[in-house]
Amino acid sequence: MERVTDYQVIIIGSGPAGCTAALYLSRANIRCLVLEGMQPGGQLTITTDVENYPGFPEGILGPKLMELMRLQAERFGAKFSALEPVEKVNFLEHPFEVRTDQRIYVSPAVIVASGASAKQLGLPSEQALQGFGVSYCATCDGFFFKEKDIVVVGGGDSAMEEATFLTKFARKVTVVHRREELRASKIMQERALSNPKIDFIFNTGVDEVIGSKENGVKSLTLRNLVTNETTSHATQGLFVAIGHTPNTQPYVGQLNLDQAGYIQLPHRNSTVTNIQGVFACGDVVDHIYRQAVTAAGSGCQAALDCERWLTHERITERWDLPKGEEERV
Ligand code: NAP
Repeated sequence: MERVTDYQVIIIGSGPAGCTAALYLSRANIRCLVLEGMQPGGQLTITTDVENYPGFPEGILGPKLMELMRLQAERFGAKFSALEPVEKVNFLEHPFEVRTDQRIYVSPAVIVASGASAKQLGLPSEQALQGFGVSYCATCDGFFFKEKDIVVVGGGDSAMEEATFLTKFARKVTVVHRREELRASKIMQERALSNPKIDFIFNTGVDEVIGSKENGVKSLTLRNLVTNETTSHATQGLFVAIGHTPNTQPYVGQLNLDQAGYIQLPHRNSTVTNIQGVFACGDVVDHIYRQAVTAAGSGCQAALDCERWLTHERITERWDLPKGEEERV
């Protein structure tokens, strides 16, 4: 398999964190490659209008915002490689190896910005209407549902938080949960249960989302999981809040992960991981804020930390191997 030693930094992930890291590194004259993975641009590419990213007073489409971020980094020399997901890494030896299905990248530093994926119900109709009435982020999309009736699926803290947040905009919010009991913490449950704008439907799943890209979501086919009876539930929006999965599979056993699989950063004011020379930023370390702007901010921090580390270790001077060179420094 081809070994590529051209880059001082491999950035894994091409969402706001990865693109911002690439922008800062390339402006610092550091050769970096962004491995974009199977969803180039990350989670924002499955949303439509983004109105809370600073600098766009009229809002901007998620895919367009990510295209602009990539172009801005490319302008200063950052390289991008699409559809090349990372299969394996070796961070236990230096220089590090990042293995995709096509190549092995060898580099002295790596920034992991591989994000997290919102869990999906797995319905074809849910997938077809993503960004057209089906959403995975109330903070991002709640504003578009003023005076509408909305359904939130899930019974955990995220679902309670999203439902409560959505009552700022919606006429009514209905929480649909697959069991009789909520999983959420008592305080979050009580807040949602006592909110007059929130109704609950228990023991129920979603079978189908009815609607179109032109007219948005019109209704849901709900199934009572005890009686197996199906009903149609009129709604204009579906928020799926059944948790997130951090994209950390390749790092298991090498980077310290928390119980939910997010990368743990050992130092409060640094993006360095438990391995010197490997940095992490964006949603792969953040299960709290999960915003494009916070991810971009932490991508900037990772690039600055990485650049300082390379300079401190005098690696920028040493890492000048020609293409294809296999020798380790
Ligand atoms: P979670 O606690 O894992 O809850 C996921 C919920 O979605 C559960 O109620 C689960 O049902 C349901 N669910 C999972 N898969 C489903 C499917 N395929 N179809 C229908 N329902 C499904 O996830 P979370 O709510 O995102 O919370 C994750 C962590 O973040 C938790 O530790 C939570 O405390 C924390 N968090 C805290 C706050 C806060 O304190 N402000 C806010 C958000 C999250 P079951 O109950 O039947 O399993």
